[in-house]
Amino acid sequence: MDVRIFQFNGCNKCYNETLLLKEDSEYSIEFVSDPKNWKGEKVDISVITGYLIPDDLKHLNKIKDNSEKVIAYGNCAATGGVFALANQKGHDVTPLQNLIGDSQNINGCLGEIEELKNTIDEKEIHKLKNLCEVCSRKATCEYLEEIKRQIELDDSSTCFNDLGFLCSGFIAKECKERCIDYNTPCRGCKPSIDRSGIRMLGLFGTLAGNVEIATEHSVKGATDKLADEDDDLTDGLPDIVGNFFRFTLPTSGLPKGRIPSSGTLLEDLFIGRLIEEIPLITGLLGGSKSISLTLKFIESYEKANEIKVSEQVKKFRSELLTLEDELLNAIDKEDSTKYKEVTEKIRKIAGNMNLSNLYFGGFKTKINDSDNFDDYKTHIFEIVEGTYKNGSVEYKIDSDGILTEIKIKEGLV
Ligand code: SF4
Ligand code: SF4
Ligand code: SF4
Repeated sequence: MDVRIFQFNGCNKCYNETLLLKEDSEYSIEFVSDPKNWKGEKVDISVITGYLIPDDLKHLNKIKDNSEKVIAYGNCAATGGVFALANQKGHDVTPLQNLIGDSQNINGCLGEIEELKNTIDEKEIHKLKNLCEVCSRKATCEYLEEIKRQIELDDSSTCFNDLGFLCSGFIAKECKERCIDYNTPCRGCKPSIDRSGIRMLGLFGTLAGNVEIATEHSVKGATDKLADEDDDLTDGLPDIVGNFFRFTLPTSGLPKGRIPSSGTLLEDLFIGRLIEEIPLITGLLGGSKSISLTLKFIESYEKANEIKVSEQVKKFRSELLTLEDELLNAIDKEDSTKYKEVTEKIRKIAGNMNLSNLYFGGFKTKINDSDNFDDYKTHIFEIVEGTYKNGSVEYKIDSDGILTEIKIKEGLV
């Protein structure tokens, strides 16, 4: 079977993951990193990775006309993914289906290679459970007393939502990367239902029914309206779009944002996000350089605010950077066996390819059974307003920990 993999824009992590199709398969695979110059030939399956914009339509149509089947692999191509957060500021990241109509979606950030293989082979895919069914944390769905920022997570047995931290597991399918196993709430990269963000927002809003929200009377009568001032709800959850619609903004039904753009698409997607969410975003979209990108953000903040890290943390981080070099080498050589071996080692330290285990001050969960976790456990960090710089990355956060400005050197993602 002839399979072509096309990388369009932004993160190349899903594209790189397709190297694994070479393992245990008899496909004739070619990787096309520059789809605009693809010569065009009849193929059985075309796989699209990376985010898409309307300007890509001409090339996508050429691919569609030459392929028996077209698959959007990963959230960027399937739903717009994390890059589509920039649509809040006028960009036009668009899911593949909205551009060419007839395609199949494999959701996930990172997309799961087993699902891609099954889709190519037209194997029946067993029905996935809801993420909460496979989660070790227990939910009570009690009304919340408060909403919390995800700066410190100590309890490892209670549902994140019950603890006051938003977790989108309610609207997600079981997944391979399992952020929830690394003390990181789910952001819903594998939605189990349509318009998952809106439904999760409604659900969390119901749980938050007891939490104070500022209202004032409307001039039209006695009906309260939301007040302009801050309240417990908005203090606890300042970035609604980034938290509830991280992967699905273009398919959410929300109107397009009218906030003016303040830079490139990459910069626009970062602005408005919360400092504690940044490692969770860079770990997703940094492509083959997600480890160094994530550490740039984390370490610049740690250094400026004198957050001490242990020798063990430094050692694990240095191992990850070495693994990143090995990964780049394996990708360069299209060496799927080495790629598999290196990504398994990365997963061992970073938790998953989303790097959920990496955080400010250390790691969120224990890496080896025999370790003394206190040697490298992440610790509480204060939100400190300021400008943080690390060579190719410079960002500014306000007193609420919201990213207000960013400069990222071109080509970093
Ligand atoms: S951002 Fe996520 S969905 Fe998009 S290419 Fe990277 S890993 Fe895949
Ligand atoms: S909402 Fe999250 S923490 Fe709670 S049970 Fe579901 S997956 Fe687990
Ligand atoms: S736990 Fe992580 S990988 Fe799994 S569905 Fe949620 S966001 Fe996606």
